[in-house]
Amino acid sequence: MGSAWCRHQFYGRYQRILFVDANIKRYGLYLIRWQLSTPILAAVLYLLAGLGALTATVIANLIGGLIFFWVDRFIFTSRTLATPARWEVREEVRCADCSAIARGYRLVMTKDYDRTNDPAPEFRCEACSKKKSEELKRRGVHH
Ligand SMILES: [Zn+2]
Repeated sequence: MGSAWCRHQFYGRYQRILFVDANIKRYGLYLIRWQLSTPILAAVLYLLAGLGALTATVIANLIGGLIFFWVDRFIFTSRTLATPARWEVREEVRCADCSAIARGYRLVMTKDYDRTNDPAPEFRCEACSKKKSEELKRRGVHH
């Protein structure tokens, strides 16, 4: 367990906490959701106009919050909207685990894992890649 391993563990965790999967699908839905909130809040304000502007606004925002908390939660956490995993495949590379020369696979990016600019990318043969994939899933890296 050298320091490289510790660093790897540390950044793995760090990335998982900080990396928000704010992709274009989520962003688009979020903008649409803001448009939807407009007529709902306007209708509430219209219906409660008799209560006075301030009270009506407070109630309208309360109703909006009750509805859009769940909508926003869906937008930001739904696995359906997650960025699809990106793999890189290279021919005739040495497997990082068993050293066989074969077609190599490398997971480049998922929701909570980004090795796009990895200075020393590790490719694995199909069998070792499957094993590594299981290990990542156990560690909570979904792909
Ligand atoms: Zn291998």
